[in-house]
Amino acid sequence: MSKIEKFELFKVPPRWLFLKLTTDDGLVGWGEPVCEGKAETVAAAVKELGSQLIGHSATDIEDAFQLMYRAGFYRGGPILTSAASGIEQAMWDIKGKALGVPVYEMLGGKCRDRIEVYRWIGGDHPRDTGEAAKEAAAQGYKAVKMNGTDELRWIDTYDKLEATVERVAAIKEAVPGMRIAVDFHGRVHKTMAKKLIHMLDEYNLMFIEEPVLCENEDEFIEFARTCHTPIATGERNYTRWGFKHMLTRGGVDIIQPDVSHCGGILEARKIAAMAEAFDVAFALHCPLGPIALAACLQVDFCSPNAFIQEQSAGIHYNAGYDLLNYMKNPEIFKWKNGYCELLTKPGLGIEVNEDYVREMAAKGHDWHNPVWRDSDGIIAEW
Ligand SMILES: [Mg+2]
Repeated sequence: MSKIEKFELFKVPPRWLFLKLTTDDGLVGWGEPVCEGKAETVAAAVKELGSQLIGHSATDIEDAFQLMYRAGFYRGGPILTSAASGIEQAMWDIKGKALGVPVYEMLGGKCRDRIEVYRWIGGDHPRDTGEAAKEAAAQGYKAVKMNGTDELRWIDTYDKLEATVERVAAIKEAVPGMRIAVDFHGRVHKTMAKKLIHMLDEYNLMFIEEPVLCENEDEFIEFARTCHTPIATGERNYTRWGFKHMLTRGGVDIIQPDVSHCGGILEARKIAAMAEAFDVAFALHCPLGPIALAACLQVDFCSPNAFIQEQSAGIHYNAGYDLLNYMKNPEIFKWKNGYCELLTKPGLGIEVNEDYVREMAAKGHDWHNPVWRDSDGIIAEW
């Protein structure tokens, strides 16, 4: 039986952290254990958790998760679960390669042949959204997402909200059939969010994401009472327990765990099943690199309530780097009419270009999100 022998980490631009896991019989698996802006912290957590896994069976994934999550007494949160997620992804990659099957084959098998993908437009401060939507449509996308607003105070002026509505209207006019998601990014406080959701309701958005921060998720139930736009959230929630109250309380239409933050592939699949029991849709968060995206797709192909996948091709964070550069088989992420076709190779289905990874790791990165302040100097949500 293959045993875990070696952990190697690669901090690569634009803002990612890759993990190469090697077994005593020479199998290799890749994972992406990163929390954006906290790569060094997660790397330290991977080393600490990994030291307990040396000599552990490389294919007893549930046991490894239990060890990483429960045996350490302190649990959860973005750092520890992101570290565990990347390790868990690499173990699935190894297990799939050992058995010669894609990961979804070990999670019940495929229940779809392809999954829709959407792309980001407009950047941090979205402008010229009509033109950007036209470009996305020319690339075959049927759905886009954009940030909703600039920085906002607790109580702010309505012209900032009207600007958001204008940018949505510009997309509708430029590409009438384009489905639109608007990410409030937790930037909007509840009073302004209530108003903006109401103003956007007539545009039949695909969803509004993080209308308020997840720490204020009690508000979702109120939003659901007063508007008809689907509400999505979940990129800053971790493990089944992080979604339990959200699902039982209601008010959320789409949950968006991140397979590199929530606990990994099996944890994401379990969260999808929990959501399914509440008739809640599933759309994995993924503004990350190619390994995380491959891990997401493995979950999508075996989760009935998954309906669309985020991905980072063309995203504003990537600036000069592309997820395809890190792959030897980039063709698997060449979308056809806005869909990703079923991945068929063993494990995660991605062939990592290790030479390029090593070259880029020598360069590294020091990515942190921008710090925003409002006109009076107060820190604003980014
Ligand atoms: Mg988001």
